[in-house]
Amino acid sequence: MDIAIVNSWLLTFQNNSLGIVKDGAIGIEDGKISFVGKTSEIDKTDVDTLIDGSNHVTMPGLVNAHIHTSMTLLRGGAQDLPEIEWMNKGIGPIANHMKPSDIIVGSKLGVIEALRSGTTTFAEYSTNVSKLVDEIYLPFGARVVATETINEVSKNRAHLKPTDIYEFDRTKGEKAFKQACELFKKYQKKELVTSMFGPQALDMISLELLQIVKDEAIERKSGMHLHVAQGERERLQIVGRFGKNASTVKVLNEYGFLDEYLLGAHCHDTSIDEREKMVSNGVKMVGCPSSISMIDGIVPPVGHFVSLGGKVGLGSDQAPGPGLHNMFCEMRTISIITKTMMRDPTALPAWEVLKIATGGGSQVLGLEDKIGSLEVGKQADIITIDLSKPNLTPVVDFPFHTFIPNIVYSATGYEVDNVIISGKEVIIDSKFVSINEQEIINDATQRSQRIFRDASEDWMKADSLLVKKVKNGLL
Ligand SMILES: [Zn+2]
Repeated sequence: MDIAIVNSWLLTFQNNSLGIVKDGAIGIEDGKISFVGKTSEIDKTDVDTLIDGSNHVTMPGLVNAHIHTSMTLLRGGAQDLPEIEWMNKGIGPIANHMKPSDIIVGSKLGVIEALRSGTTTFAEYSTNVSKLVDEIYLPFGARVVATETINEVSKNRAHLKPTDIYEFDRTKGEKAFKQACELFKKYQKKELVTSMFGPQALDMISLELLQIVKDEAIERKSGMHLHVAQGERERLQIVGRFGKNASTVKVLNEYGFLDEYLLGAHCHDTSIDEREKMVSNGVKMVGCPSSISMIDGIVPPVGHFVSLGGKVGLGSDQAPGPGLHNMFCEMRTISIITKTMMRDPTALPAWEVLKIATGGGSQVLGLEDKIGSLEVGKQADIITIDLSKPNLTPVVDFPFHTFIPNIVYSATGYEVDNVIISGKEVIIDSKFVSINEQEIINDATQRSQRIFRDASEDWMKADSLLVKKVKNGLL
């Protein structure tokens, strides 16, 4: 056996429960889980690395099912702003001063932050995503669902009013589609990499290209990860193109896109009927609670999709909105804001949220046969959580296990002290094995300071609400 974790509380997530095992052990061999059971039953004689899991929870790694790490250097750059200002007056004037190498360093920062807080699978959604896979995910040993952004909106749209319909540039869309297709061949032998198609949103792609993408997704037994019904801006475009009664979900349904090949991100500008239709047609959903609350002031309909029996995952989106790439924060946030919105403290309980952040994420990304539970034969994507920290203490296991709610409501993510992905140790005892964390943090800091300094004039001129706050000594 390559690695064994013993004396631990296991959360196996088997048989539709949390599968709690006391004094549990996990064995890992050739990247896969080879033993799940009691410590007294595991053969410890031939184990290369033995990890003592006393007073720890050992569970499947968390799945971030919707993440754009490329903007992480702009963390803190646009929050507490009206939605309409977020892009054009907030983040945009600063982002314009980023160089391609800033994107790589920001992305590295986002990935180490997420690994530290127990994320082992990343649905990375980006332009030129293979660059991030080659320079970050593969060297860091993280599992990635590489999703190339496919967008047909022509570059010169700065002059357009919100009601003006975007002009499409088919060549641009086709180029991104070709890049997306190449990912499958390029990474077919890489255990850590799978791919999905990323048509960005219905307002940013023609129906013709969307159909081409879907045909290819079927052919490759993959899926389409689409931002769905993101709000006012998208609605105006859809009404302009398809008529005054049109909505994103109605159009997707009319043209045959509302099925099990579709993974819809956000989905907040949808009616109850539309969500019912989506779930009954097998559409999967990913919610980004911190991001959508911070940018739109809206609770994503995760609780509703779950109550309808839909397949649901969670994601962090980008850093400058929510502030974090930390799945513990997403678990806590979605539970609390859903309870508040529904005025129901039983909404999205801890056990449900834990399932969404592990098995749920693996299902929406089509990885449920590989990850999402601790079972013999599955990939060894495993984290341990140290329960001895003050915020997770006391640990009580009778008549029930208090660490279940505590992991969701009291943990910060920094209690994760071992991270194993595909059987390889990425973090041991809270230290990265082969990633120079401090170097990335220093590099990121210097670059961010330069970007913000270079952007200062443009940012002031854009005159967002935040500019006044700076003048008032509040920011
Ligand atoms: Zn997104």
